[in-house]
Amino acid sequence: MQKNPFDNALSQLNKAFEVKKFSQAFIDRMSSPNREVRISIPVNMDDGSLKVFEGYRVEYNDSRGPYKGGIRFHVDTDIAEVKALALWMSLKCAVANIPMGGGKGGITVDPKKLSVSELEKLSRGWARGMVDILGPYKDVPAPDVNTTSQIMGWMNDEYMKLTGDKTRATFTGKAIENGGSEGRSVATGLGGYYVFEAMKSKYNLPDSCKVVVQGFGNVGGNAAKIFEENGHKVIAISDSKCAIYKADGLDINQLQNYKKEKGALDGFPGSKTISNSELLELACDVLVPCALEGQITEENASRIQAKVIIELANGPITPPADEILHSRKIVVVPDILANSGGVIVSTFEWEQNLKNEHWSESVVHEKLKKILWEQFDLIYTRAIELVIDLRRAAYVVALERLESAMNK
Ligand code: NAD
Repeated sequence: MQKNPFDNALSQLNKAFEVKKFSQAFIDRMSSPNREVRISIPVNMDDGSLKVFEGYRVEYNDSRGPYKGGIRFHVDTDIAEVKALALWMSLKCAVANIPMGGGKGGITVDPKKLSVSELEKLSRGWARGMVDILGPYKDVPAPDVNTTSQIMGWMNDEYMKLTGDKTRATFTGKAIENGGSEGRSVATGLGGYYVFEAMKSKYNLPDSCKVVVQGFGNVGGNAAKIFEENGHKVIAISDSKCAIYKADGLDINQLQNYKKEKGALDGFPGSKTISNSELLELACDVLVPCALEGQITEENASRIQAKVIIELANGPITPPADEILHSRKIVVVPDILANSGGVIVSTFEWEQNLKNEHWSESVVHEKLKKILWEQFDLIYTRAIELVIDLRRAAYVVALERLESAMNK
């Protein structure tokens, strides 16, 4: 990450403020969060020592509904990153037109270095430290990088024990048996695919696209599988250790089994190992960043050869890189639209918990597709009308909805 991520997020926001006039009071309110919370989480480690971790929650804006946003466990997570992600969540919920505000949380930790019992204590510790600000009508967290349905289950259980809440609606992304929604685990990847379907004919993309995916976690793994199942070729994919390339397309199911068995992508039969930077610069129709922020920068933007980039990660393109891509006519579908499938289905989960209902997978998918197709069309139309890129158009639509909610 080259720059403070919150500065990057504000810089994107300011570009939208250049396109359309908003009141100074609204600009000021959107430029800083309502609340930032930092907590210390002491954990008794398996070796008998005590370790203290730092946890965060940023509640950015709740004018459209309860704060909503994931919790990230990562060594590089800090308050600036969480603030940037919380701002994007406020815009994302407004773009998707769901009744939620924006927030985000995190812990500075490498969860891979913890045992299951240490991870459970840490997760319960975060929920305990934040209990007063959370609740189905106040702040509803969800998973993000390195946080799973199991972690959401522990946090929700801790919250329910402490408060007596029975709705199970305070955390989303839970396992189905704990009140989770059908379709939540694939929602971000599937949502990205619905956005691709909505844009395909508008940008003359071929029936069988060459797709490159960065990241092989929840979002990248599911996105890759869905593109492949729908007749596209995933020619390259990466994780944090390496990237692999296969010109005639990777078999994603086999690759998932291979990674489970060997712990790495390296050496997958028929593939060539390349670096993550080479992966980003491959010639392809669709590049799908599904890892972390700041992957496409002013350093590599001029070498990107994709026709379109669908941002399933949050903030994978820095603002200067965005300008370069725009000048090179590479279409970018912004994160706040492209990866909103996760928060949309999280909101379905929250709604089902509050109504004590359980919707089928096909109902969830249909509702998700309808929202994403409608919102893509609306943003595409605004982009054409205002002669701006999709990111600025999505920001303008989100900001108009937020301003209208704040003025009520
Ligand atoms: P994850 O932890 O399941 O997967 C992250 C993947 O990225 C892993 O495969 C990891 O190996 C890889 N990775 C990490 N650093 C990398 C690097 N430098 N280069 C290449 N690969 C790297 O996380 P996820 O839930 O899949 O989230 C991925 C991105 O999508 C994040 O930006 C997250 O904020 C965003 N996102 C996630 C959701 C969701 O529902 N999970 C929703 C919206 C946005």
